[in-house]
Amino acid sequence: MITRNDRCSACDHSEETVAHLFQCPTRRELVRKEIDALQKKLLNELNTQRDLAHVLIRGMRHWIEFGTGYTLAHYPTAFRSLLQAGWKDQRELGWSQFFRGFLAQSWRQIQLRHLRADNCADPEQAAFEWSVQLHKSLFRLGGSE
Ligand SMILES: [Zn+2]
Repeated sequence: MITRNDRCSACDHSEETVAHLFQCPTRRELVRKEIDALQKKLLNELNTQRDLAHVLIRGMRHWIEFGTGYTLAHYPTAFRSLLQAGWKDQRELGWSQFFRGFLAQSWRQIQLRHLRADNCADPEQAAFEWSVQLHKSLFRLGGSE
């Protein structure tokens, strides 16, 4: 469906890639709204560790606006040490991959620790479900489901 070297039918950008689906100026408002909705879902429905939700959403917004990963240096030190591993992994994996549902393993580890601390009955299963739900949401966001 999406082939490299195709031009974007909406804005005539030279490549219609997965990355462009999120970054196309004609879809930007829609994508922003969808990310707002995802933020609410992460915090309310999916019981996501708050700093983690913040970092993921911030990383997504930054990538959509600027096409690069957000730098961790912008965050306070305590916050940074908590999320550093995940951040590093996702940078290596690429934020564009994040939008295709390829999540750094460390994100799930952070969520797992949060669920354990939250006295969740089955934190391993819940953390797995969390990553599945996030994955699904990201796929919907790209309209590729
Ligand atoms: Zn476009």
